[in-house]
Amino acid sequence: MIPNPIAAAIAEQGPVSVERFMEMAVQAYYAQGTAFGRSGDFTTAPEISQVFGELIGVWCLLTWRRLGRPDPLYLVELGPGRGTLMADLMRSAALMPDFVCAARPHLVETSSALRSQQAQTLAGFAPSWHGSLATVPSDAPLLIVANEFLDALPIRQFERQESGWHERMVAAATDGSLSFALSPVPLLETASLLAPAQEQAPVGSIAEVNPEALSLIGEIANRLHEQNGAALFIDYGPLESGPGDSLQAINSHMYAKVLDSPGEADLTAHVDFAALGRRAESLGIRAWGPVTQAVWLQRMGILERAGQLAQSAREDQKEMLVSGIRRLIEPKEMGTLFKVMALTLPGFSVPSGFEVS
Ligand code: SAH
Repeated sequence: MIPNPIAAAIAEQGPVSVERFMEMAVQAYYAQGTAFGRSGDFTTAPEISQVFGELIGVWCLLTWRRLGRPDPLYLVELGPGRGTLMADLMRSAALMPDFVCAARPHLVETSSALRSQQAQTLAGFAPSWHGSLATVPSDAPLLIVANEFLDALPIRQFERQESGWHERMVAAATDGSLSFALSPVPLLETASLLAPAQEQAPVGSIAEVNPEALSLIGEIANRLHEQNGAALFIDYGPLESGPGDSLQAINSHMYAKVLDSPGEADLTAHVDFAALGRRAESLGIRAWGPVTQAVWLQRMGILERAGQLAQSAREDQKEMLVSGIRRLIEPKEMGTLFKVMALTLPGFSVPSGFEVS
């Protein structure tokens, strides 16, 4: 058997933090480029129904109009997967040819295998690629969209012991098997790291923090102040920050053990929207929501759009359409667990889909 390269690296170098482990596993996993769809490991919303990306397109059109129709507009997608969301977005944006002329697609993607898939899907739109948001041009307003991107960013985990909060690590045994371990030294200070609901959790609790997501929010806040624009995040997670271990691995549409075969399963963690919203607000940015995916998609007109598509669909297409819409909005499926959050400058009026009902 070929030894797992990540497990071998840990065996050689010694224990690593959960954060480093997740970073290595996620990068190795997406480098393969085979994650999505029925033959892959999981199916994301844009791969379930074209309506998802179309409605994000409608959101972009409406937001662009409210920004005063800037031209150029940097249309940034973080972690575009196969490029499906951006393709559906641009197709629905064709309703407003001025938008299509103004929009410059910029894709933030680290996997070169996925970059080539995106190049094929988006051949007509001449996108540019970036390894991070930092190199996206900063001389014009931007709209940022990201579906299931934040959940792939590496989290730190801490476990509460009598002695305080200890960083959770991943260690290798001599046979190469991996297990969780705790750093022997507790954290000196936790108030700046953990929300009060996490910090006061009892002994044995696990708390999670996503430093990369928090610093991304900081970077976006700077850009919104300097360039103007808005950001839209769709991802899965609870409404409030709290303790708990949310690391999960998915392999061939089934849950797998987090430490088994790192790099071969999709590894994600719940997104702490409340923490990200607090960070944005502390930097003078308005955070809207999160609202559930079901509420947001219905406010954006998912049922009306599905009705329209159904009129010209064959029976088998109609069934697919209906089952796709159900998966996106039903509470048992993605409707409630998935949330939508927007970021704007404070003066911006309510972005579409975030109206208080
Ligand atoms: N948005 C897509 C794909 C979600 S999967 C969809 O909804 O189908 C996560 C995506 O983020 C993949 O494209 C992955 O390669 C990319 N990714 C993961 N970590 C990244 C990082 N640190 N920087 C840039 N892209 C990353």
